[in-house]
Amino acid sequence: MEPADVLVVGDGVAGCAAAIALGRLGLSTIVLRSQGSQADSDLPETLAPGGSKLLDDLGLGCSLTAKNFPPITTKISRWGSGPVQVASMLPGASAPLLLGKARLKSILLEVALGSGAAVVNAAHIHKVERQSNIWRANVHDGAEEQVLFARFAVDASGRRAALAQRLGCRRRILDSLVSFWIVGPGEAWPSHAVATATVTDGWLFCAGSRSGNAAIGFFTAGSRCRAKPSADSILKRVESVPEMADLLRFAPDWKRSRVMARNAATTWLENGDSDWIACGDALQTIDPIASSGTYIALRQGIAAASVAEDILGGGLSALRTYQRASKAEFDNILAKRNLYYGLRPITLA
Ligand SMILES: Cc1cc2nc3c(=O)[nH]c(=O)nc-3n(C[C@H](O)[C@H](O)[C@H](O)COP(=O)(O)OP(=O)(O)OC[C@H]3O[C@@H](n4cnc5c(N)ncnc54)[C@H](O)[C@@H]3O)c2cc1C
Repeated sequence: MEPADVLVVGDGVAGCAAAIALGRLGLSTIVLRSQGSQADSDLPETLAPGGSKLLDDLGLGCSLTAKNFPPITTKISRWGSGPVQVASMLPGASAPLLLGKARLKSILLEVALGSGAAVVNAAHIHKVERQSNIWRANVHDGAEEQVLFARFAVDASGRRAALAQRLGCRRRILDSLVSFWIVGPGEAWPSHAVATATVTDGWLFCAGSRSGNAAIGFFTAGSRCRAKPSADSILKRVESVPEMADLLRFAPDWKRSRVMARNAATTWLENGDSDWIACGDALQTIDPIASSGTYIALRQGIAAASVAEDILGGGLSALRTYQRASKAEFDNILAKRNLYYGLRPITLA
């Protein structure tokens, strides 16, 4: 069987961005897709300013983006014991967007298919090895096994970093941040508004969604949690920020909401090879307070395609630039986060 140019492990935003960019470079691509993972949930996220330009570059077009992801025009925030601040912004090309990540993934996957990527459903990678400069991956979709061949590999499988794990790479875990989410009726929540506020033991994020619901995320250090907080205890924290609580006008449904836990720890993958790279959450996970994970995943996915093209053509400079830039960006975000939380600097050797 003729090997594909690139095997992309993961069909998230990073993997799809890579597949679209690879298709544009004329490289044949297989995208491995694992169905039904946590990442498919549609909790609200924000796409940092500049994200719409990346989506446009990937071929989504302004009208498709506008139809699916409204600009965020109001930001409500309270830091420490300071007053609540409400900032109104005019929607514009550089406005942050309110995302449903599952929706973004499915749109990007369509574009990737249109760019010529082949998608293979594979819940598990059984075995992966490099033989005479070709990757050979044995994958299983729950029903049958397939063997795939490719000349270069991109790990875009999110926090699981499935390929890196198989290759025995080390992941540095820098904190224990965890988030707990509840969802309820959001009719009173102002459209296209997000709120962030600190509470005594963490911080809260609240946003509406296209489905008319609103979601509240409570972020805290996992090391402080003995058990999953109840919906009631999350609502009590929201009540300590009256401006947020007033907008939510809690109906009884909120108390009945299932509490969903999401790992939000900051991590960094140590990898240094030249026949595969990691991008997006597979490479680094950053504190959601930075609201940049998806933007970085999109950008690194696009960059991963240029690295693959360079390496397949015998070059190494794109890889070195990618490695330097991604590490510098991570260090920069970490330094800002430490400043935010008043933490001592953490240095990665
Ligand atoms: C609680 C929380 C809130 C956040 N809020 C924000 C926010 O507001 N703004 C923001 O920009 N970022 C936010 N982030 C970060 C953002 O969600 C991620 O950085 C971004 O989605 C990473 O995209 P990705 O494509 O790298 O990974 P993912 O979106 O995780 O995609 C990885 C994909 O790979 C698939 N996969 C996994 N294993 C395999 C396998 N073995 N084979 C095939 N496929 C596989 C998964 O099913 C998934 O589809 C938040 C993160 C968390 C945890």
